[in-house]
Amino acid sequence: MSSTKVAVVTGSNKGIGFAIVKGLCERFAGVVYLTSRDVSRGKDAVDKLEKLGFKPLYHQLDITDQTSINNFKKFIETTYGGLDLLVNNAAIAFKGDAKEPFGHQAEETLKVNYFSTLNFCEAVFPLLRQNAKVVNLSSSAGHLSRIPSADLRAKLSSPDLSISELSKLMEAFVRDAKDGTAGEKGWGNSTYVVSKVGLTALTIIQQRLFDKEEPNRNISVNAVHPGYVDTDMTSHKGPLTIEEGAKAPLFVALDADWKGMYVWFDCREVDWFGDAAP
Ligand code: NAP
Repeated sequence: MSSTKVAVVTGSNKGIGFAIVKGLCERFAGVVYLTSRDVSRGKDAVDKLEKLGFKPLYHQLDITDQTSINNFKKFIETTYGGLDLLVNNAAIAFKGDAKEPFGHQAEETLKVNYFSTLNFCEAVFPLLRQNAKVVNLSSSAGHLSRIPSADLRAKLSSPDLSISELSKLMEAFVRDAKDGTAGEKGWGNSTYVVSKVGLTALTIIQQRLFDKEEPNRNISVNAVHPGYVDTDMTSHKGPLTIEEGAKAPLFVALDADWKGMYVWFDCREVDWFGDAAP
């Protein structure tokens, strides 16, 4: 079986994911897969990097599509037999002035940012090789303090919380958003916040499970806030370039030896359980 090291970045045809692929092409000792849900957008991105002298490989991957996940997994498994670095970057965010009902926004946002990311992880985690690293793109919005209810914060940060219990909490949020009670139940008014708090909580549980059940695999899972970045997601309002946004994800992927941390764009570890985000 191939001993080539393999890195994969989800949703990397543009924005921070694109810059992470670029940075990995410069520094990762192995093959780097740029992936996208849309093949032509992905191939255009590969062309752009090739023009800069980089050689990313390409595979289609829509994290909301089970067939796409299965095809991708089978391809990596049969071609390389394993995976060394997984960057879960793909995500969506509705704009502040979006007209879709809040319940619909909650369902769609949680579907991509939490449930599909989780489902993709569960599909490919068995492929992770010894010492593999997983980087989950969270956000400053993913700090625990962004959830107004103390009771929900206690549940989300419980040291015994299981993935299925966390998923039930995320499902409860979508239900509450649909029946108009999310505010009074203490979830706040941002579907993106709940999705990223959920992803950060998931990161902590994933690390705990690897450490407990398979300590010899030495796998690390960290969550990273990339900063406020000039991308389509922020309507290009963020002050950081995509290369600056890729800095902390690349640091966690290539340089740090951290496990289960919540890391800020300036490569600082931040207390996720603290009273407020920095
Ligand atoms: P972006 O420019 O909107 O790019 C998002 C990427 O995800 C696109 O390539 C998009 O593909 C892809 N994507 C969406 N749904 C997908 C799916 N179902 N399957 C596969 N790919 C999918 O966003 P960004 O600003 O670069 O953000 C990257 C990550 O950083 C996200 O996780 C975001 O939440 C996080 N983040 C960003 C900021 C910021 O200031 N920009 C701040 C904090 C956290 P399409 O081109 O096909 O839509």
